[in-house]
Amino acid sequence: MPIRSGSCLCRGVTFRVSGEPLRVGICHCTDCRKSSGAPFAAYAVWPIEAFEQETGYTSTYANRTFCTTCGGRVAWLSDGEAEVTIGSLDEVPTDLVPDYELWVKRREHWLGPLPGAAQFDQDRHETEPAAYAVALK
Ligand SMILES: [Zn+2]
Ligand SMILES: [Zn+2]
Repeated sequence: MPIRSGSCLCRGVTFRVSGEPLRVGICHCTDCRKSSGAPFAAYAVWPIEAFEQETGYTSTYANRTFCTTCGGRVAWLSDGEAEVTIGSLDEVPTDLVPDYELWVKRREHWLGPLPGAAQFDQDRHETEPAAYAVALK
C-alpha cells in the first residue's frame, strides 16, 4: 500500500496518507482561491481513516486545517473524507493526475480545461454525473 507524506510550508505539521486516493481534482471556486491564494486548488481525496497527522498544531476554518505557525494548508476534513492539496505532498512532482474540474465557470480565462478531465460548472453531482459532466478528450 503506497504511503505518501506531506507537510505545511514550515514543516512543523507533518502528515501521511495511506493507499491510493478516491479521486483527484481541481477546484476553481472562490473558497479554494481565497484559502490557497492561488487561482485554483488541486487536491486528492482519501477516506478519512487514511489520513494521519503526525506532528504539529493546526487551526481550522470552514473544515480546512492550517498550520498555526506558517498558515500552510494541511487538509480539509469533512464527510468522512480527507482532502489533501497536491502541493502539500512531499513528492515533487507527484504521480497524481486530476480527473475532474469543479467551478469551471470561475476558471481564469487564461487557463484551458485539463485534457481528459470531467468539467463541472459548479460542484460535483455524484448522482447524475452524465447530465453535468463533459469529458474532454
Ligand atoms: Zn507550518
Ligand atoms: Zn473549491
